This record gives sequence, structure tokens and C-alpha cells, in this order.
Amino acid sequence: MAIQVIQNVRFADGRRGSIVIDDGTIIATGESIPPERTMTVIDAGDRLALPGFVDAHAHMDKSLLGLDWYANEGGWTLQDMVDRERRYRVDKQIDFATQIRRVGRRMIATGTTATRTFIDIDTDIGLNAFHGALEAREALATGLSMQIVAFPQSGMLVRPGTVELMEESLRSGADVVGGLDPSSMDRDPKGHLDTIFGMAERYDKDVDIHLHEPGDLGAFSIELIAERTRALGMRGRVVISHAFSLGGVTDPYLGQLIDLLLENDIAIMSHGPSGGRPAPPVKRLHDAGVRLCAGNDGIRDTWGPLNMPDMLLRAFLITYRNNFRRDDEIAIALAMCMEGGAEVIGLGHYGLVAGSPADLVIVGGQNPLEAMVERPDRWLVMKRGVVVAREGDCLVA
Ligand SMILES: [Zn+2]
Repeated sequence: MAIQVIQNVRFADGRRGSIVIDDGTIIATGESIPPERTMTVIDAGDRLALPGFVDAHAHMDKSLLGLDWYANEGGWTLQDMVDRERRYRVDKQIDFATQIRRVGRRMIATGTTATRTFIDIDTDIGLNAFHGALEAREALATGLSMQIVAFPQSGMLVRPGTVELMEESLRSGADVVGGLDPSSMDRDPKGHLDTIFGMAERYDKDVDIHLHEPGDLGAFSIELIAERTRALGMRGRVVISHAFSLGGVTDPYLGQLIDLLLENDIAIMSHGPSGGRPAPPVKRLHDAGVRLCAGNDGIRDTWGPLNMPDMLLRAFLITYRNNFRRDDEIAIALAMCMEGGAEVIGLGHYGLVAGSPADLVIVGGQNPLEAMVERPDRWLVMKRGVVVAREGDCLVA
């Protein structure tokens, strides 16, 4: 592949210059362009260049994007929502591969170049969603890196047969072991956590646990997760997603929980939840040194119609939820959608620096904050040097 140069870009720090790409890898950034071999030149027209966004918490299999409007008229307990969704998907015979591709193409169009997606595994749908995810992952590969989390959305120990299905997925392409509310879903925190950490150890996989449990109950689960992380030497390989309880305990207890997270290098995913639910105090966690990432969570599904697969919108929502106003605070929300996510899900080389894959977004805006507020169509999205979206349209079939 010839050398590619994207010239006339603004960088996040205000510098202007070029990005030089050789065979899908960034080899230089800055003012001067090396006068080398045949070059393909893209003129970015003084637009902003950002690294490809990372949606570190998606549920691509749940999305109803492109289907008839879902009239949501159900009950509001977690169990209601889980049951309603499971019934709907069976009744409507949702084609998981198609839905995941739809979401993936929208992700690519908005500049997301890597995602970690939870995929439901239960005794009704079995591995159908998982197999759809494998098919879609292959179809989307030129534009999107996809990690798959084996996720027991409907409960694990309360639904015998689920663990065996999860194990089968881990043997055949799932990347991460998912868990869910060990006390309130399975009503057996020790059993639930021992089972998922046992799987992680057997298959040498990382762990990502949904924790909606409130206050002291969720905090107790965090303690149990930290104990197992330490016992199995899984420092740096565990994410707690949502972790609402971090926003619902006393300040001294929060300090103790932060110490536990730091000791075991457990990362926190927050999507800036809506409504009156307590939420993790993002700035406090960031300032303490806890690794943070973000994701769009469910996108237009039976749980709710609002979310869209756009990480600039996600950064906006985290900013809104945390009442950030200062530039340095908003930068925390943006970092969660870029380098924070890349680091937490283990992407390796990342960013607009020599040696990183040329995964990048060119978008209007004076700086990342203005791009987040304005959210114009992404002018160009590149994955490993290949242009995969233009003017808001995904070019991956
Ligand atoms: Zn989720």
C-alpha cells in the first residue's frame, strides 16, 4: 500500500499538521511530511483528527434498529425488562446477525472503530445471538474490532444450562466472561462470582460484570469481586460496568471501595445513566486513578428507545450526568470514550501517534469539546488506513 498522508488537520491539542500512514499504521504526525514514495493525499480541510472511538460497553444483539417501532408498555423491575425482552425476541424471531451488523455499521459511520459488546446467552435463545455476533464480527471486520462478552442476561445459576452454554461460547470465540448482579439476579453472590471467575480462570479470559445493585448491596458485591480478583491474580483484567452503588454509599465507604479498585486495578464503566439513579462519581474516580471507560449500552431496544451508537453523544451524556462544566472535567468524559476505553479493553497501541494502527476520525470542530457539543457528521473514518465511512455514511457493506 502506498504511503497515505492526511494533511491540513487540527490535533486535539491545537497543533496543526499531517498524519502519515504506511500500510495501515501511523508512522508520523506533525508539521512536516516526509517526501517519500508515492503518496495518496487526503486534505482534511482544517478539520479535527481524533483517534477512533471505543464503545467499551454495547449490547449490539438487543438493538431493534431498522425494525418497527417497539411500543414499550411493560413493567419496570429488572426482571420485568429481562423477561419482556426474551419473549419479544423469540416472538419476533429477531435475526441477530442482521441487527448486530446494523448497529455496527452505525458505529462505524460515527467513528467507533472498536467495541466490546455483550451478547446474551440463555436457555431460550441458546447461542443464536452469539453465532449471529460471530457472523457479524467477520462481516464488519474491516471497519470495527469487536470483542464479545458471554453475558447471562436472564440469570445464570437460576437457569440451569446457562453455564454450559457460556462455556461453549468461550471455547468458540467469546473473548470475555460476563456476569450480572450476583446478589439480586441469581440471589447467590458467592455461587455466581465463583462460577464466572472459575470460567475466567479455566479459559484464561477477562471478566466484565454488570452491577446495577444499589448502595450497600452493590458495594458488598464490589468487595466480593475484589477478593476474587486478588485470589486469582486477575489484577487489571476485571471491569465492573455501571457500578451504580459507587454513587450510593457514604463517603468514607466510597473511599474504601476506591482503595479496593486501585489495589486490584479493577476498571469502571459508566455510561452516564439517566434519571435519578445514583451513578459512579466519574471525576472522583478519575482523580483517584481508577481506570474508566464508557459505552452506549443498549441501543434502541426493548429497554428504552433513546440511545444511539455515537460516542460523541455518549461523552456529552456523561458530561451532562456529572454536571461537568470545566474543559478539564469534560476531557475526562471524552477520554473515557477514546483512550480510556482502549486501555480498559486492551486494544494495545492506540492514538494518533507513530506505531498505532491508523484508526481515526476526521470531524468538524475547533477541538474535541466542540465536536462533542456540535456532533457534526463524521467527515471521514479510517480503520487501519482504510476509509470506512465518509460524511456520516458507512462504507462497509
Ligand atoms: Zn449493559
